[in-house]
Amino acid sequence: MPFALSCSKKAETGPVTTFISPSLTANDQKAGEQSKNIYATKTLDETPDKTINEPINQNGPKGEGDAAENRTDVTNYSSVEPEDIEKLKKVFASLSDKCKNAIKNGDPEEFLKDLKAVLADDKDDLLLLCDKTHYLPEGYAPKDLVLLQKTPEYNVIKPNIYLRAPCIPSLTQMGADAAKQGITLLVSSTYRSYDRQVEVYNRLVALDGQEQADRESARPGTSQHQTGSVIDFGNIDSSFEETAPGKWLLKNAWKYGWSLSFPDGYEDVTGYRYECWHYRYIGKKACEFQRLWFSDVQQFMLEFIDEWRKLS
Ligand SMILES: [Zn+2]
Repeated sequence: MPFALSCSKKAETGPVTTFISPSLTANDQKAGEQSKNIYATKTLDETPDKTINEPINQNGPKGEGDAAENRTDVTNYSSVEPEDIEKLKKVFASLSDKCKNAIKNGDPEEFLKDLKAVLADDKDDLLLLCDKTHYLPEGYAPKDLVLLQKTPEYNVIKPNIYLRAPCIPSLTQMGADAAKQGITLLVSSTYRSYDRQVEVYNRLVALDGQEQADRESARPGTSQHQTGSVIDFGNIDSSFEETAPGKWLLKNAWKYGWSLSFPDGYEDVTGYRYECWHYRYIGKKACEFQRLWFSDVQQFMLEFIDEWRKLS
C-alpha cells in the first residue's frame, strides 16, 4: 500500500508535497519535483477559475502559498467515506507493481479528494482507458466530432480532419498562446474510425511486419485515435521533438489539458515507443492529477481510474 494512511493527520498541517516517498527512483523523484511545480506555477491562474480554492496549507513553507492557491476545489468532498478508503485498497491490490510504484506516497484523503474532483469533471468521458489490452466498446465512435479547419490559432495539414467538440476550445487557446510566441501548431492527424485503423494497421504490417507494426500503431479497437480526442502534431516522427512546436508542447500542453500519451522511457508501460507528437485531451484537472500523483504518466492514471470505475 503506497499510501501512508497514518500520515493523514500530519497532512492537515503540512503540504501534501512533503509526502513524496524517499524510496522513489531518481526518475520518480524528478517527476515528484515536476509535481510540485503544478502548485508553484502561475500559468493556470491567469484567468481566475471559480473552482480555484482558497489556500489550504496556511502553514506551508514559503513558496507553497502559490501551490495551495492552485489546488482543485475539493470543498464538495470535505469528508472521505470509510468505504472509499476500502475501495482504494482494493484498486491498489489490482494494479501492476509499476503502476503502484509510480503513485506518489501521500495522504489518501488528499488523493481521494483530487480523484473525485477529476471524475466529477469528466462529463465528456475523456478518461476512457484504451490501450493494447483494453479495447474500446465495439463500434465505438464519438457523437460530437467536429470538422477542423485552419484558423488564426492553428493550422491543419489536410481537409476532412475531425476532433471531438470538447477538445476544440482548449486547442484554440493553446494555439493562440503558442502563436503569441511565434509558434504555429500544425494538426496532422486526429480521429480515426475503426475501419480507418484497420487500413493503417494492415498497411504497417505489410511494410514492416507485425512486431514492428505493433510498436508503431494500434490494432483496430485499441487506438487512442478512435476516441476522437487525440492529435498528432507536426511531422509525426521523432524529429518533432527538436522543433519549436515540439518543445513548446512538451512544456506547455498539460496546462491546456493535453497529455503526452507515450512518454520517453515507458514503452514497457504504454506499449509504444516515445511519440513526442501524440497528445490526448483529458482536461486540465486530469493533467494536474496525473502530474501530482501518477509520476506524470497518463497510462498509470487511466489504469487506476478504470479499476476505480469498475468498482463503482
Ligand atoms: Zn497518434
